[in-house]
Amino acid sequence: MSESKIVAFMEYVEALNSNEPEFLQAVHEVAEVIIPFIENNPKYQGKKLLERMIEPERTIMFRVPWMDDKGEIHVNRGIRVEMNSAIGPYKGGLRFHPTVNLSVLKFLGFEQVLKNSLTTLPMGGGKGGSNFNPKGKSDAEVMKFCQSFMGELFRHIGANTDIPAGDIGVGGREIGYMFGMYKKLRNEFTGVLTGKGIAYGGSLMRPEATGYGTVYFAQNMLNTRNYSFEGKTVLISGSGNVAQYAAEKATELGAKVITMSDSSGTIYDEDGIDEEKLAFIMDLKNVKRGRIEEYAKEYPKAKFLENTRPWNIKGAIALPCATQNELNETDAKNLVSNGCICVSEGANMPSTPDAVAVFQKKKILYAVGKASNAGGVAVSGLEMSQNTLGYNWKREEVDAKLREIMDDIHASCVKYGKEEDGYIDYSKGANIAGFVKVADAMLEQGIV
Ligand code: GLU
Repeated sequence: MSESKIVAFMEYVEALNSNEPEFLQAVHEVAEVIIPFIENNPKYQGKKLLERMIEPERTIMFRVPWMDDKGEIHVNRGIRVEMNSAIGPYKGGLRFHPTVNLSVLKFLGFEQVLKNSLTTLPMGGGKGGSNFNPKGKSDAEVMKFCQSFMGELFRHIGANTDIPAGDIGVGGREIGYMFGMYKKLRNEFTGVLTGKGIAYGGSLMRPEATGYGTVYFAQNMLNTRNYSFEGKTVLISGSGNVAQYAAEKATELGAKVITMSDSSGTIYDEDGIDEEKLAFIMDLKNVKRGRIEEYAKEYPKAKFLENTRPWNIKGAIALPCATQNELNETDAKNLVSNGCICVSEGANMPSTPDAVAVFQKKKILYAVGKASNAGGVAVSGLEMSQNTLGYNWKREEVDAKLREIMDDIHASCVKYGKEEDGYIDYSKGANIAGFVKVADAMLEQGIV
């Protein structure tokens, strides 16, 4: 019964969004869980809730012209997908990357709705960005692009309307430039963006939050089987903000992180990327904006594996922290046969559906990104609260709240995702728990 309903629903979604593979993939993952759930819950039947949720409340597309240092003019596309505001103002990051298009931003916006709901904070979901590539651009060029981008986006956002943040290609530097432009255009100092610098309203721990949260979530999963990070080898992909702080926290908990990567390849350090080596990576990536390959030159015992991802290497815990669909079925099989017991996603949708099926069939601990990487947006929510209060919490206070939120998300996943044999299907749990709150709010607010 559910099977045919899922097929019919996906035909409907595909007809509406035919050239949007990432978005269809994200919707399918949710539909597979939510359609059978609705079948068992009359309250949600006949309300076209999923049909309403897959349609963004609003999509804004705009031209972003800017001039490079040589005086040459470039035009990029800017997009903001305002997906769902049932439980709060639109909230979600901005991504600057050449692969950004409507499909990618709709998938991310859709994920964000359920993720934000899971955090227990009052945030709706949205996502935005541009196909602008910050790689190789000067500071001045990045600033000019950010100012042009905000020159249009400012009309559509606001502290009670839509609160963007960072994502791939958008970190503290870009948020600063965009905040400066917003403030100038609106003549208003509000918490309209999160991930701000500490000097002008940012929250302590926001840079760390996604990576730490991914590890806290994994800790909770490991606890269910009486395992811990202590003494385990950890494979991390990516070397940006999420990967860096996931590595820091895993190391602090006694694990040995042996890989990190970027789009050029993977570094494999059998001795472990300790605190000092991680500081080298942070400087390389955040300040020098260099390639991960430099690591193997600095630490010659480490190998640089060109154009390779970390999933062929033996490790007990895998934390995919790079980007969508970076871990496929073959990778999943390799991980499992090499003894991997736990996968906690720091990126959004890094595992393909076939890879997820392998993890679940083998019953290893597997956490879907919308649950395990929700720590970033959760601390964004805390930044919004601090801005409203006109007050700053201490680092320990924010960290304690982050921990509590990750524990709560884990508990929600267990509540809705525990199978009869005791296996916890975290995807099922996360999707249902995220859906219920949004659906309840939509039902109470009528057909709008
Ligand atoms: N881009 C992050 C995410 O995927 C954070 C969004 C935010 O802080 O608003 O959840």
